Amino acid sequence: MRVITCLFTEHNLWLVLLAAAMCLVGSGVTMHLYRRTLENKRAEKLGWLFLTAVCAGSSIWATHFIAMLGFQPGVPVTFDAALTLVSMILAIAGTALGLSIAATKFSRFANLVGGGVFGLAIAAMHFTGMFAYRVDGLVEWDQAYVTASIILSVGLAATAFWAVERWTTGAKAFIAPGILVLAIVALHFTAMAAFLVTPIAGIEVGADSAAFRAMALSVAIAALVIIGTGVSSYLIDNRTREESDEQLRHMALHDPLTGLPNRTSFNAYLDAKLASGQADGLAVIGIDLNRFKEINDIWGHAAGDAVLCALAERLKAFVGQHHFAARLGGDEFSVVLNTDSRMALQERVDAIEVMFNEPIRYGEFDSATGASLGIAVFPHDGEDRDALVRNADLAMYKAKLDPMMDVCFYDTELGDEVRERRALANDLRHAIEQDELEVHYQVQTSIETGEIRGYEALLRWTHPTLGRIGPDQFIPLAEANGLILPLGEWVLQRACRDAAAWENDYKVAVNLSAVQLTHSGLARQIQQVLIETGLPVHRLEIELTETALIKDKVQSLHIMRQIKALGISVALDDFGTGYSSLDILRTFPFDKIKLDKSFTEELESDHRSLAVVRAILALAKSLGIPVLAEGIETLNQLDLLRDEACDEGQGFFLGRPAPLDALTGLEESLLASPALRRSAGA
Ligand code: C2E
Ligand code: CA
Ligand code: CA
Repeated sequence: MRVITCLFTEHNLWLVLLAAAMCLVGSGVTMHLYRRTLENKRAEKLGWLFLTAVCAGSSIWATHFIAMLGFQPGVPVTFDAALTLVSMILAIAGTALGLSIAATKFSRFANLVGGGVFGLAIAAMHFTGMFAYRVDGLVEWDQAYVTASIILSVGLAATAFWAVERWTTGAKAFIAPGILVLAIVALHFTAMAAFLVTPIAGIEVGADSAAFRAMALSVAIAALVIIGTGVSSYLIDNRTREESDEQLRHMALHDPLTGLPNRTSFNAYLDAKLASGQADGLAVIGIDLNRFKEINDIWGHAAGDAVLCALAERLKAFVGQHHFAARLGGDEFSVVLNTDSRMALQERVDAIEVMFNEPIRYGEFDSATGASLGIAVFPHDGEDRDALVRNADLAMYKAKLDPMMDVCFYDTELGDEVRERRALANDLRHAIEQDELEVHYQVQTSIETGEIRGYEALLRWTHPTLGRIGPDQFIPLAEANGLILPLGEWVLQRACRDAAAWENDYKVAVNLSAVQLTHSGLARQIQQVLIETGLPVHRLEIELTETALIKDKVQSLHIMRQIKALGISVALDDFGTGYSSLDILRTFPFDKIKLDKSFTEELESDHRSLAVVRAILALAKSLGIPVLAEGIETLNQLDLLRDEACDEGQGFFLGRPAPLDALTGLEESLLASPALRRSAGA
């Protein structure tokens, strides 16, 4: 009760209102800044702590001081300057201590302890301020009120610091500042109620209230300036936070090189589209550049980056606001087209294809990468994101495999085909250990005499459920799935071991795939196999196709020289089917040319084929390289080739590829064959 009377009868209400305003603003800002202190770490935390303490201390001190000026004890009043200053320092230092304790989080109760200290600081400031307050009268302190004021201040401040972490958003964020206001106000007026002044009779009454008001105003302004500094720091920090948040968001959703949306945004976009219920006819296009690796290898990564950026710019311009383009990684892009008709879709797909084939200028060079496009359309080719993306990828993969095709639309058959291939590749993985592989041998003979020169090792796979699968089918599969190296090594080992056991010293010819030829340890591996199996080097022949060589000419030539340096001969397989057979002959030091079976096949029917064969034989002769004709199926073909002085032959007529145990006795049967004898003798 005395508190209320004290407030209304012994105070100048205007100054009390000013003090109240100061208290409200100060508490609000203090709690806001304190929250920011909690969010920060290390150096920033200290900075915010300092700012919070300065704001808290000066606003609380100003509140107290203005309210003091509004106190009308009915006697003349003066202030002790030094003690007033001490009270202000106490306010700032004390609140700083409380805030630091609360912010350290040393225990679960750190905020309560810190809040309590904060409350004590308010009390200490208040009573020091009161000692600075000099009145011409008898001063008495009511102990009960003093104790009550301190308990209230400590308790409420502790509650405020508990609340500031409990409620942080919305209207509830104002609970903590509210309690803090209560702590300050309760302390002040309860403590003032404890302060009893009895005027000494005969002394002039009243203080210079105009001077007090001016002082109050200056203190309020100074405190507001300090609070304003805190608020503006807070706002500036908010702004930079928003900006860096925005920057982070952009970085998380975009590819840093090209600025195109990345896979995360692509997924989000597609999900949103599909969820909108207006996705009918939406097409997902998987795009993979065809010659990006080449550009990177030849011109360097800076050129590669420039190409990617140029293409990204084209894509951005192309998709505009209506469609969507993203870079999913490396040289992989994706476009989502929102079209309503198949015709419109086709038009746009054509445009994208053209776009990737248009040359890009880099320095003095023009280059076009080209791209393989795979398309899946909602809902026919997939009803959710995963299915659409997977099927677009399948179609793209198909387009990639076919050098004549840049664009492929998904269809269910394609899915089945790819699934089958995957399953088969998986089975092939286990074929070696399951003992499903076998090497067959096909004889190679001298055409002139019919005598055996060697055997070509040809790989056979008997699948447990599908039966015989031809090497034309599973060798490319092995190449595409990284299985060709173990497979190739297995064949080499088996062929060499078999041949080493033969009683005669026929050659054994082993086919090597393009992928094996890129393996830099190949020569060493072959040498190792020869040592292990004991096969003399001159009995091994390696067969290489032109396509295996032209992928990376420098590397192939290097490896081929290593193989030849071991003393192993190398034959050029399938001669005449490639693009630049003559060039290959010029560059690579072959020991034998294997004329492709397509020439042999047409020898009898097409006299122009005969002319070509004749020319090849003449060329080989001038280079000093012997020629073996493949695919001899008839006696007539054999005779024609003998007339042209072809050196060696291989084909069903001379002997079909057969398992090892069927080879014994072949020699006799060959020489015993009446047709051969007649042919050779003629
Ligand atoms: P290639 O190296 O040209 O092997 C000759 C192919 O022609 C063999 O087919 C053989 O059976 C077949 N052939 C032989 N004589 C005749 C004939 O008179 N008429 C006809 N039409 N064909 C004949 P195969 O065994 O199916 O092998 C196909 C291809 O698979 C081989 O062609 C070779 O490129 C590859 N290949 C086979 N085994 C291996 C291997 O162990 N490693 C590698 N990398 N490739 C292999
Ligand atoms: Ca061959
Ligand atoms: Ca061949």
